[in-house]
Amino acid sequence: MAITSLERMNNSDLAGYYSTLSRNYKKVRSQNLKLDMSRGKPCQEQLDLTAGLIDCLSRTDFRAANGTDCRNYGGIDGIPEIRELCAWILEARPAEVIVGGNSSLALMHDLIVRAMLQKLPGSETPWKKLPQVRFLCPSPGYDRHFAICEYLGIEMIPVNYQADGPDMDKVERLAAADPTIKGIWCVPKYSNPTGITYSDSVVKRLATMTTKASDFRIFWDNAYAVHHLTNTPDRLLNILTACKNAGNPDRVFIFASSSKISFPGSGIAMMAGSETNINWLKKQMIIQTIGPDKMNQLRHVRFFKDPAGIEAHMRRHAAIIKPKFDLVTAIFESTLGGKNLATWSNPRGGYFISLNTLPGCAKKVVAKAAEAGVVLTGAGATFPYGLDPEDKNIRIAPTFPPLPELKQALELVALCIQLVSAEQELAKRSTPA
Ligand code: PMP
Repeated sequence: MAITSLERMNNSDLAGYYSTLSRNYKKVRSQNLKLDMSRGKPCQEQLDLTAGLIDCLSRTDFRAANGTDCRNYGGIDGIPEIRELCAWILEARPAEVIVGGNSSLALMHDLIVRAMLQKLPGSETPWKKLPQVRFLCPSPGYDRHFAICEYLGIEMIPVNYQADGPDMDKVERLAAADPTIKGIWCVPKYSNPTGITYSDSVVKRLATMTTKASDFRIFWDNAYAVHHLTNTPDRLLNILTACKNAGNPDRVFIFASSSKISFPGSGIAMMAGSETNINWLKKQMIIQTIGPDKMNQLRHVRFFKDPAGIEAHMRRHAAIIKPKFDLVTAIFESTLGGKNLATWSNPRGGYFISLNTLPGCAKKVVAKAAEAGVVLTGAGATFPYGLDPEDKNIRIAPTFPPLPELKQALELVALCIQLVSAEQELAKRSTPA
């Protein structure tokens, strides 16, 4: 990072500046704010957009188009019309799609547990029987992906992000050399938290690269596939097609859900893969459940109708949350702009802004914000094992709070960044060289 505004100050200016910041901080702390920005949750108005989902069925409307009584058991992979709608989101054919319960994270968790216990197509041994299993983890990334690995004893190897996706030289080198590397986590569009979308070149390299493990899988969590904040959506190359073209049709599992389209917790979760993978998985799933909640699937079909219905709905979401993203940028620009104390992403979709402080400051900033009543995602959470090597990344989740509260919270975050950076500069100057 270039020279900071603090490094340019002489000692007495720095001391004066620090005491002003401290005074301001104490004033904010005395306001007893109570704001939780720790997770990317839709706000009340967003949830209200989907109110019609609750009463769009009637007592006599319970049959899928093929005559299936959705109230009854059956249909492990979802009713045909929801599979068709989800196939559009996942950019796959309906035969390559499973629509499950409500949580895509649960689908990912269960799939990896299954790969531990049973041989995936292409596996010689269930992963649990191997002395070691490793996953590549582009970072900063989604904390709950990393939690699944930690829970299952899968060793995580962090890989840096570049502007258009993970550092593919490193990914290729590691995957080609190490048979214990069985997977990679990817949030390829409007990534959580960096906001980037993978370039065509990154997608093709992932699909074509040599992997030492014959059962290597890409866990392609396309959670923000349709969550645009602009009228010119990012375009993501179709990984399933890229894998097929590369002669690696079984390499990828794709996930998404309607958690941030309809309701988190009572939406629908979906996944796609080659027919080989999907047929394998259906046989596993039937041991666990007789079938998903088909009434909820029918409700989603009735409410959204078709891809155009989802697109129109997502524009309504964007109209509510775009001003919140704009507010983050405006406050950071006005309070931190030109000072070289932090950088922040300006995402074109998704749910997060990725904020980088000066190295060594993120934990202290999050702690100071919490002390003044604003809970942020824990510093380090965006890295495997919670270890941010530079202690600088903070995930900002701006969608949930109303604008006035968001403004208060962000002004506090900006103040904490300045305060902690000034403290660090003072400490640097008082340490003998
Ligand atoms: N994947 C990513 C990248 C997410 O950001 C989230 C939500 N924060 C999820 C998955 C969770 O999805 P679901 O509600 O479908 O379990």
